[in-house]
Amino acid sequence: MLNKHRPDEKMRGGVFDFFRRTEYTKSTMFSEKKAKKPILFSGVQPSGTLHIGNFLGAIKNWVELQDKYECLFCIVDYHALTVPQDPKILKEKIKETVRLYLACGIDHRKSIIFQQSDVLEHTNLAWLLTTLTNMGELSRMTQFKDKTQGQESGTIGVGIFEYPVLMAADILLYGTNVVPVGEDQQQHVELARDLAKRFNHRFGETFVVPEGIIKKDGARIMGLDNPEKKMSKSAVSEYNYIALDDSPEDIRRKISRAATDSSRDIVFDPKRPGIYNLLTIYKIFSGLTEKAIEKKFKGVGYADFKQDLAETIIKGLKPIQDNLRKLEKQDKHIERILEEGAEKARELAKEKMKVVKEKMGLK
Ligand code: ATP
Ligand code: MG
Repeated sequence: MLNKHRPDEKMRGGVFDFFRRTEYTKSTMFSEKKAKKPILFSGVQPSGTLHIGNFLGAIKNWVELQDKYECLFCIVDYHALTVPQDPKILKEKIKETVRLYLACGIDHRKSIIFQQSDVLEHTNLAWLLTTLTNMGELSRMTQFKDKTQGQESGTIGVGIFEYPVLMAADILLYGTNVVPVGEDQQQHVELARDLAKRFNHRFGETFVVPEGIIKKDGARIMGLDNPEKKMSKSAVSEYNYIALDDSPEDIRRKISRAATDSSRDIVFDPKRPGIYNLLTIYKIFSGLTEKAIEKKFKGVGYADFKQDLAETIIKGLKPIQDNLRKLEKQDKHIERILEEGAEKARELAKEKMKVVKEKMGLK
């Protein structure tokens, strides 16, 4: 019965019973010291609808790693608050993000799925780590610069400046060994590593120094409307991204408008960011090699290539969208998963915070 829930089968869109209530409690519970497998932590902000960049850069890898690690997949809602959010929409987006995790193949019976704000230790540890962090380290962050571009320094929110420390706390709280993320998060994982080492050096061995896992393909999917910047949930224009629940018509429309260039050859040339990005997306969704793709599209025009790309994405997203449909109107199920996940995460986090407080002389 259990192999019914293997991620590869899920990705193929097989028949699943997501709603087997009796199985809620069967998901793994481990403690940092007794974990049989290394620990994996990652998360997504419920700041919009997940897009193919989130999927290819992060969630697809989570699914592939799910059996190899003890996994915690977080909905990092506190991170989302670093930019203004409509409370009603945020509430919905939190549930939608869980649905998308499940639809992509994350299994709540194997992994802990939880909401960041349900575990108070995240902000608690973040404060303690803040006291070890320098202004310089945070001002250097590329994402901070990108997200505050054009804003007067006096008007920039402290949250957006501080959030990499909260992310370090998220990771370090669970004795995390690996953090699979897209390339844009590499700098933040580095900070988590630095803070772990700094703390250990100052107060004695406490934190595991985590490693980032960044896959080469898909680590940085660029915006369709501007291939100089990464695809983002919070992009102003919907032509920036393909959302995981976009309809076939939306996907065709968005791909047909995606930026390319005035050349003709369809080849993997990183110096031509528009077509390179589209080819990268094609490569991951089709599973073909670069050589095979270049051969296939030799002499073919951009319009025909884009049509093929759109159909390939539509086909690739279909199993996720089918799963998503089965999860509609399953709010109770989603809430239950989050409750269970929070309970487990809390237990682990409390254990760690106790040690941290003792080391720092607070207890
Ligand atoms: P926001 O615009 O609100 O920051 P986002 O699209 O950047 O949203 P996040 O929730 O910040 O998404 O990131 C979730 C995960 O997806 C992270 O691991 C991040 O590295 C990865 N990711 C985000 N955008 C991309 C992208 N364009 N290509 C590859 N991976 C990405
Ligand atoms: Mg982001």
